[in-house]
Amino acid sequence: MIDYRSDTVTKPSPEMLKAMWNAPVGDDVFGEDTSINELEQLAADMFGMEAGLFCPSGTMTNQIAIKVHTQPGDEVICDADAHIYQYEGGGIAFNAGASVKLLAGDRGRVTAAQVANAINPDDVHRARTSLVCLENTSNRGGGSCYEWEDITAIRALCTQHGLAFHLDGARLFNALVAKSQTPQQYGATFDSISICLSKSLGCPVGSVLLGKKEFIRRARRFRKVFGGGMRQAGYIAAAGIYALKNNIDRLQEDHAHARQLADSLEGRSWVKRVLPVETNIIIFELHEAGSAPALVQKLKELDILAYAIAPDRIRLVVHLDITAGMIERTIKQFGKL
Ligand SMILES: *Cc1c(COP(=O)(O)O)cnc(C)c1O
Repeated sequence: MIDYRSDTVTKPSPEMLKAMWNAPVGDDVFGEDTSINELEQLAADMFGMEAGLFCPSGTMTNQIAIKVHTQPGDEVICDADAHIYQYEGGGIAFNAGASVKLLAGDRGRVTAAQVANAINPDDVHRARTSLVCLENTSNRGGGSCYEWEDITAIRALCTQHGLAFHLDGARLFNALVAKSQTPQQYGATFDSISICLSKSLGCPVGSVLLGKKEFIRRARRFRKVFGGGMRQAGYIAAAGIYALKNNIDRLQEDHAHARQLADSLEGRSWVKRVLPVETNIIIFELHEAGSAPALVQKLKELDILAYAIAPDRIRLVVHLDITAGMIERTIKQFGKL
């Protein structure tokens, strides 16, 4: 099976497993896990941010950030396709008691003008807008990336209106590689950033939340409340350290593989349209509404696993367990459909 369902399906490499096996550990709730402390510091230093917090999932890092940045009754601004809204179980309402203003962005990306329009006036009738969240790359946007100027324009608005600015950077490293941007740019621009180690970086588990010392101090308290205080979790943090040191530059390979797949899909009779491919995600639309699950089944019979993200849309995600040979085989199989 060639598994394109998600970049979360990767298994740790022998080198990563060796790093995990040899990890020095301690009780992290006591702050004594050397490997977790090292990972948090390493990630914070990469982004030029003050501190980091290791969590079991990207959902938890996002939800903790939203909780710290808001008060119950506040409103969060994000794109309608945002993971924080679509795929976190209603957590914004459940965990933070906040409401959401959804924007109709372009492949998951919103503009400063849209954000400006969505900020509520200071009026007793209206929810208090307190947080803007961006997602880069955008998952439902097909791995689309923000232009840097669009991010800084939204930053300026947040500063002007006293809003917190959070980045869901589950696949931020894909954006950095695709756009030749630096983590420091992002660290200097957002109040908090969530990065996932379990996506395209190839770790079995884990995300890191980054921010100022005081923000992370408050986040650490909510991590405990959310049940995310782990003990000798340095065994999994060691995978994160390995990934940050070894698995970022290679993302270019995934992007090249994604391009190859997209080029081969373009113009096939059963493909209506391939969304622009900027990183490791390919989303394509089918002619017939409701036909995505059937095509996913046909692909499965050809040993290709894909995911129907909408009744007429299929998503393929390239990752570090996908080899050049697998890409070639996949393209051959497409020819049989
Ligand atoms: C995967 C993902 C997350 C976090 O998901 P977890 O499975 O909870 O780690 C957050 N945001 C985006 C955009 C994602 O793709």
